[in-house]
Amino acid sequence: MSIETEKKKTYRSILKWGDPNHIEEPNKRLVGYVKKYMAVTDEDIKTPHLPALDEVKLDTPSALSAADLESLKNIVGKDNVDISDYERLRHSVGYSYYDVIALRKKAKIPLVDAVVCPRHEADVVGIIKFCDEKKIPLIPFGGRSSVVRGLDPIKGGISLDLTKHMNKVIKVNETNKSATVQPGMFGPAYEDYLNNYKTENSSTGYSCGHFPQSFEYSTVGGWVVTKGAGSLSTGYGKIEDMVLGLKFVTPKGIIEIKDYPRTAAGPDLRHIVAGSEGTLGVLTEVTLKVWKFRPDNRSYFSFLFKNWEGAVAALREIMQGEFGLPHMLRISDPEESGIGLMVEGITGGPIDKVLSLLGYKDGQRCILMGSTEGDKDTGCLIKKKVKAIAKKHGSLYLGASAVRGWYRHRYNDPYLRENLMDMKVMTDTVETACSWENLPKVWAGVRQVVKARKPSVCMVHASHSYENGSMLYFIFISKIKPGDEIDDYLNYHSSILNAIIDNGGSPTHHHGTGRLMAPWFEDFSGKTAMGLLRAIKAELDPNNIMNPGGTLALDFKGDKKKSFRI
Ligand SMILES: Cc1cc2nc3c(=O)[nH]c(=O)nc-3n(C[C@H](O)[C@H](O)[C@H](O)COP(=O)(O)OP(=O)(O)OC[C@H]3O[C@@H](n4cnc5c(N)ncnc54)[C@H](O)[C@@H]3O)c2cc1C
Repeated sequence: MSIETEKKKTYRSILKWGDPNHIEEPNKRLVGYVKKYMAVTDEDIKTPHLPALDEVKLDTPSALSAADLESLKNIVGKDNVDISDYERLRHSVGYSYYDVIALRKKAKIPLVDAVVCPRHEADVVGIIKFCDEKKIPLIPFGGRSSVVRGLDPIKGGISLDLTKHMNKVIKVNETNKSATVQPGMFGPAYEDYLNNYKTENSSTGYSCGHFPQSFEYSTVGGWVVTKGAGSLSTGYGKIEDMVLGLKFVTPKGIIEIKDYPRTAAGPDLRHIVAGSEGTLGVLTEVTLKVWKFRPDNRSYFSFLFKNWEGAVAALREIMQGEFGLPHMLRISDPEESGIGLMVEGITGGPIDKVLSLLGYKDGQRCILMGSTEGDKDTGCLIKKKVKAIAKKHGSLYLGASAVRGWYRHRYNDPYLRENLMDMKVMTDTVETACSWENLPKVWAGVRQVVKARKPSVCMVHASHSYENGSMLYFIFISKIKPGDEIDDYLNYHSSILNAIIDNGGSPTHHHGTGRLMAPWFEDFSGKTAMGLLRAIKAELDPNNIMNPGGTLALDFKGDKKKSFRI
């Protein structure tokens, strides 16, 4: 069923997630479920919808003049400027559902005019100066894993690809327990470097503590400017909690923030860079907290609750227990738990019967999974406390193996999107932060909107939690409307976002705002705050060359509550 990307330079090779050689075959139970509940036919499975196997050929040449291209080559060297069709298209899209469907349809989308790969900070300074003088848009480019249309070059211009050269650890400071790293380094290279950093001061090596699901194909710089969250964020924090110092090149000059652990010297400018999503400047260096790498100390636990309310109550009590935090902690709602147990072959079998007799019924029961890292004694204490809370809320202890399995496969699920889209099934995600008070409303309100579109699956989990609230992550799976794929998706997405906001959630918790969430951003921030953000933009980037065209609603005055359209 899965399509190999036989020809290398096809549209499909750009829209395919991750490792080009990784083909994730959905297991038989999952295929059966999709066929039954999503009304997918054998014909749908046999004939892939919009497979996009054509080779990339653009009919829009680069808008840059020969003299401009020559100037760019003089700054970064001739091997670091690319105007080939394939690279221009690859650098004009991220991995948002919108981007992927636009590629499948070979829709006419805005394109960058050149891809430029700076070798070092001086090159970044030179390129920004050139673009500012010529008023050419400049879009910083990391791993391309943006799911919020953060890279769409609405006004054309140059994609500044930081991954080719600016991808190294500059130093590890063991005294300060920090690492300084260039922005274009991918997650695995960074983590491997830290894990293997062994000296007389440290026999363990270090860990970066940040493991988003996109870890393998996203960069340190991208994590920081989009304010990402990794799967262990409940313990280690979000990426903005890890930033100590940084260097940020803007059209107006360089901002350098030293790695003070804290200061009271005015507002914290690190929090303007974090979340700036390429609109203010280019992050060229960042100093981040690191942790001792002690995988043998990791301990796992999982529980089954009778219902969502019980799981949420336990999650909140753990987060507010003041005894230390698990690093990974997530609860899945009844629909997600049900599909998880079905895929594992539990549903309908003898174990299911026993569970039902005990009151843990399919359609109501919820899974909680967690793990601790770091010091072993602290981990034991946290696990003991978590067990007591979970027991109090009527759960059944399931042990460690489900969590170990989750760790092993945690980066694989995104590969399934291609298979589903081939079968005319849309799958996308939205995520939000909400207070504990609003969480039940947001969960129910969004599910109601998704479920109103029949047939639809709506799986929800809370996987990044805080003392005062949590994140909810919605995976919605619905049928594609052939012929109307783009508008239909944008309308559907808008209705889901409206349900989040109307019920008290934020437009995003960790994916960032990009262009996809921009229409909700001004309402969310308020007029005065928006004015402040626009003033910062005008000060640092007076010619609006940095990632222009919608991101963060800085230069966008579209319809309220309606998805951004080109
Ligand atoms: C399958 C999948 C799973 C995901 N899971 C998670 C998850 O678990 N947690 C999470 O937080 N996110 C997740 N994401 C979203 C995405 O991975 C993050 O937003 C990530 O931080 C983006 O990093 P990147 O290097 O890919 O940046 P890109 O996508 O290349 O860029 C994102 C934005 O940052 C800007 N930018 C990039 N580098 C710089 C720089 N050096 N200076 C200034 N601006 C820059 C770009 O212009 C763009 O606006 C997921 C995405 C996918 C596709």
